[in-house]
Amino acid sequence: MGGTHVGFKVLVTGSASGIGLAITDRLAKAGAAVFATDADGEALRAVAEDHGWPGDRVHTAELDVRESSRWDAAQKAAIGAMDGLDTLINVAGVIHPAWIHELDLEQAQLQVDVNLMGVLRGMRATTAGFVERRRGHVINVASMAALAPIEGIAVYSATKYAVRSLSLAASNELRRKGVAVTVICPDAVRTPMLDRQEAFEQADLVFSGSRELSPQEVADAVLDAMHDRPLEVYLPRHRGWLARLADLFPASATTISDLARRRGHRRRTELLDRVASVAKPQKR
Ligand code: NAD
Repeated sequence: MGGTHVGFKVLVTGSASGIGLAITDRLAKAGAAVFATDADGEALRAVAEDHGWPGDRVHTAELDVRESSRWDAAQKAAIGAMDGLDTLINVAGVIHPAWIHELDLEQAQLQVDVNLMGVLRGMRATTAGFVERRRGHVINVASMAALAPIEGIAVYSATKYAVRSLSLAASNELRRKGVAVTVICPDAVRTPMLDRQEAFEQADLVFSGSRELSPQEVADAVLDAMHDRPLEVYLPRHRGWLARLADLFPASATTISDLARRRGHRRRTELLDRVASVAKPQKR
């Protein structure tokens, strides 16, 4: 990560854990003003204290991205606290692995509400001001599941496809008005969200890469994107292009998908075994 971020005024969602936490921490260290939000206000206050975020520059507020009225209030509070707002980083997200024929519709609805509608609400609440000032940047954290259809997490994958297409279309609309949109598509990242998937055979494909990214690697890419304003970023790039290829020829991609699933199954069960052996009480 190069450069300073002094002068940026950023609203982040999902700051209490994983990728959102890493982004917020990097921004805090790089001198940006941050309005850090999360649905879990208590966890957010705890991480702010643990990380020693300076209260005069990093403001924290509870925000459930499913609540439109809270979004408007958060946008106003962010502008009040930072004397402006120029960047929105949508990170908050949820995943519920499930086979389609066994789907829990409430969990499916939750993923749509948080992952897609949450991003849309955030863009709606902030871009009017960005357009008025002909200045602003929206960064949406999607996923590699936005680039290829991922069985076992089909609903999550559908929400992330939607976030990518929303971002690409919005970028075309908004660039003429001085506002940029970037979509970031990371492969598996070592966060609590990934840990929770280890117990699900449906999530085998999530573990098919050679390694998991760290939340800090994603944060670095996001901070770079704040300067360079690319349209989209794949992390790692080669896996992104592989996913795009699978998306281009979905009928032929089933063989690759079967191989990847077997590899992912091995990796996921290894990780699960490792967790079980750590949790097992030691014999004396
Ligand atoms: P995480 O579970 O560690 O953190 C998610 C945070 O979002 C939590 O603090 C949670 O409280 C918050 N949140 C959940 N629902 C919310 C809501 N309704 N309103 C506001 N906040 C809410 O997850 P993570 O792995 O850091 O994931 C962050 C984003 O990155 C998600 O959008 C996820 O889809 C995406 N992503 C994750 C991975 C991965 O492997 N971990 C890979 C690619 C993309």
